[in-house]
Amino acid sequence: MQYAGVIVDISLAKLDKCFSYIIPEEMQKDALPGAAVLVPFGSRTLDGYILWVSDTVDFDPAKLKPILKVKQQGMDSNGQLLALAEWMRKHYGATLNQALKTVLPSAKRQTPKMRKVVHAACSTQVLSDELAVLMARTRHSLGKERLLKALLTQPDIPWDELTHRLSVPTADIRDLEKKGLLAIEEVRSLRNPLGAVSAEKNHWQLPQLNHLQQQIRDDFVERYDRGDRTPCLLHGVTGSGKTEVYMEMIDHVLKKNRQVIVLIPEIALTYQTVMRFYLRFGGKVSILNSRMSAGERYDQFLRAKEGEVTVMVGPRSALFTPFPDLGLIIVDEEHDSAYKSQQPPKYHARETAIQRAKLSDATVVLGSATPSVASFYRAKKGEYHLYSMQQRAGGGQLPSIHVTDLRAELKAGNRSMIGRELMLALKDRLDKNEQSMLFLNRRGMAGFVSCRACGFVIKCPHCDVSMSLHKDGRLHCHYCGYKSEYKKVCPSCGSKLIGTMKAGTERVQQVIEQLFPKARVLRMDADTTRSKNGHEKLLQAFANHEADILIGTQMIVKGHDFPGVTLMGILAADLSLNISDYRSGERTFDLLLQACGRAGRGDKPSDAYIQTYQPDHYVIQSVKDSDYFAFYEQEIAYRKLMNYPPFGHLLQIEITSLKEERAQETGEYLRQAIQKEDASLAVFGPQPAAIAKISDTYRMVLLIRDTSYERLVKAKDMADRAFREAGAPKGADIWFDFDPMDGF
Ligand code: ADP
Ligand code: ZN
Ligand code: ZN
Repeated sequence: MQYAGVIVDISLAKLDKCFSYIIPEEMQKDALPGAAVLVPFGSRTLDGYILWVSDTVDFDPAKLKPILKVKQQGMDSNGQLLALAEWMRKHYGATLNQALKTVLPSAKRQTPKMRKVVHAACSTQVLSDELAVLMARTRHSLGKERLLKALLTQPDIPWDELTHRLSVPTADIRDLEKKGLLAIEEVRSLRNPLGAVSAEKNHWQLPQLNHLQQQIRDDFVERYDRGDRTPCLLHGVTGSGKTEVYMEMIDHVLKKNRQVIVLIPEIALTYQTVMRFYLRFGGKVSILNSRMSAGERYDQFLRAKEGEVTVMVGPRSALFTPFPDLGLIIVDEEHDSAYKSQQPPKYHARETAIQRAKLSDATVVLGSATPSVASFYRAKKGEYHLYSMQQRAGGGQLPSIHVTDLRAELKAGNRSMIGRELMLALKDRLDKNEQSMLFLNRRGMAGFVSCRACGFVIKCPHCDVSMSLHKDGRLHCHYCGYKSEYKKVCPSCGSKLIGTMKAGTERVQQVIEQLFPKARVLRMDADTTRSKNGHEKLLQAFANHEADILIGTQMIVKGHDFPGVTLMGILAADLSLNISDYRSGERTFDLLLQACGRAGRGDKPSDAYIQTYQPDHYVIQSVKDSDYFAFYEQEIAYRKLMNYPPFGHLLQIEITSLKEERAQETGEYLRQAIQKEDASLAVFGPQPAAIAKISDTYRMVLLIRDTSYERLVKAKDMADRAFREAGAPKGADIWFDFDPMDGF
C-alpha cells in the first residue's frame, strides 16, 4: 500500500499540518509529490497537494481515507514549490516546516495594503445629464462638477487623486455615491519596488551583439526550441558581455509566454544592474532584496503569480517566485558563496535551481568569470553545455597585474602595509588625478591582537574568535558584541610586545592619510554603510569622483563599474588562502581576479598590485596571468587527491548545546548510531567547531566523508532517526550541512 502526505491549505502558517491518505491503486502513477488532489476532510471535500509519498505511515492505516482524485497531470506552481521543498528537506536535511517556510514565504499571511478607487455606477449619459443639471445652476458645486468630468474621462479614479489633486470634498463623493452615480471600491494595492523609477526608455540603445554573443544566443535559442534543457555554463571574463547574452535569452523565453528568474548575489544587485534589466524589460521586471519588508516581498510574489511581473531579479530567495510557467533560470556569478544558505535547509541555490527547473521544464544558465570548480568539472564532462567568452566586449583592457612579495619588502626594511611599488603607483595616480581602490581582504580577520613574544591571541571569552581593536581603544567581538578593555600587556606572558598584526580598513585609512595628506579618501565597510542606502551613497560619491581613493572590504570588489579607476591595490591578498576550508583556493582566486578587474573599466591603461607573503602559490600565479584554466587544472588535481567535491562529498552534523558535555555526548551517540548501521562510513569527530562557542552556546561537529552524496543522505537520515529515539541524549540540537561553505 502507498500513502501520501497531503497539505490542504498552503496559505496558513501551520504548514506542518500534513494529513495522511491512502493512494488508491489506480492513482499511483500520478500521485507524486506536488500533484494537486481532492481529499475528503471531515464532512467536506478539499483541494490539496501531495507533499510526500511513502509505503509506511505513522497512523493506523485502517483509519485513513483514500485520495478522491488526482486533479491534473503535471504540476502548477504551488505543486512545484511543494515538491521542491520536499526535495530540499531530503537533500539538505531540515524539518518539513523549515523547508516549506523557505519555499513558501507567502505562507505567512500578509494583510495586503488596500486603496480606494472611485468608478461610475451608471451610464455616461446619466453622468453627463447630471453634469448639465449642475452646470445650469446659479450656485455651482465645483467639487461635484470636477468629479463628474473626471468620471466621464476616466473609468477608475484613485481616491487620493480625487481628494488631493482634484480637491473634491469627501462629502461630494459620498453624495454622488448615495445618488447611485458612482461606487467606491477597495482594491488591493501591490507595492512595486521599481514604481518610482522612471525610465528614459527611448534613449536606450541596445548594443549590437558581437559575433560571439550572437553565436551563443543562436545556439541557445536552437536548443531551447528543440526542448533541450541541458543546463548551460557561460564562462566569460568580466566585461565579456555575458549580461547582454542573458538579456537575449530572457527575451526569447518571454516571447514564448514563459517567465524568468535571474539570480544575482545580493552584493552585486546594484542600482546599475537593476536599471539594465528595467531599461530592457520595463515594468515586467521586479526585484527582491533582503531590505524589503515581508509585505513588500509578498506583493512581488503575488504580482508574479498573477502575471504582472515576468522577470524576477534577486538573491537566492528569488528562486521561489511562484511563476505559473517558469521557462528560464539564470544564475549569475554562479560560484558565489552567497548562494549557499546558512540557515536550515542549508541549500545551495545552484543545485536547487537545477531541481526547480526540472519541475517546470525550464533551462538553467549558470554564468561566471570564475566558475566554481564543481560546475566547470561538470561542463567539461558534458553534463552542462559550455559557452566560453574570453574577450572583453565593450572595450577597456585588463589591467597589468603585479605581485609584490611582502617578505622581500620586510627584508628591505619596509614595515608598512603598503609596498613600495604600490606607494609609487598611488602617488602617480594622485598626480594624474586618476582614481585608485584599495581592497583589504577581510574585516573580521584583520585587527586581531596578538603577542609577538608568545603568540597569544586575545579571544572573546564567549565565542572563541579573536577580538578586534577598535578606534575607541577597546576590544570588540564581532560575533556577540562583547567589549573589553585593552591593556597593552599580554595576558598570557606579560610581555608588552602585544598589538595588532594585521590592520583593519580604519587602519589602512589612517596610513593612507598619513602618506598622502592631500588625498581625498573614502572608506567602505560594514561600519560606514550601516545607514539606509549608505552603500549606494558612498558608491555614488566615488563614481562622481568626490574622492581619489576608495578603501574597502569585499563590498568594493563586486558589481560596480568605475571607469575612472586605474589602480587597484590588494592588501593581505593571501589572508583568505589560510582559512581552513577546502574552497579557500577557489574563493581567493575569484576574489583576487574580480578585484583586479575593478581597474581597467575605462580606456586608460591600468594596474593592479597583489601584495602577498606567498607569491609562488598557484592561486596567486594564476591570478597574475588571469588564467582560469591554469588555476582549474591545479585545483581539480588537489580536489581529486583529497576526495573533495566534486569527487567526494562532506556531511557536517552540527551539534549545539548550552552544556559542553551534552554536545560531546550527543556527538558520540550519533557517531555510534551511524556506524552501527553502516560501519564502512568514515565518520570524524565529534570535535569542537571552528568557532567552539558563540554567545555561550557550545558547538561541536561530526564530519562524514564519502564519494556518494546519496550515501551521505542516508547517513543524515540515520542520524536524524537516532536523534529522535527515546534513548538519545537530551539537551542538544543538531543541524545538517552538506558540503559546508564556512567553518561552523
Ligand atoms: P559581463 O556581464 O560579462 O561582465 P556586460 O554584459 O556587463 O559583461 O558587458 C560589459 C560592457 O560591455 C557593458 O558596458 C556592455 O554594455 C558592453 N557590451 C556588451 N556587449 C557589447 C557589444 N556587443 N558591443 C558593445 N558593447 C558591449
Ligand atoms: Zn605573550
Ligand atoms: Zn563574542
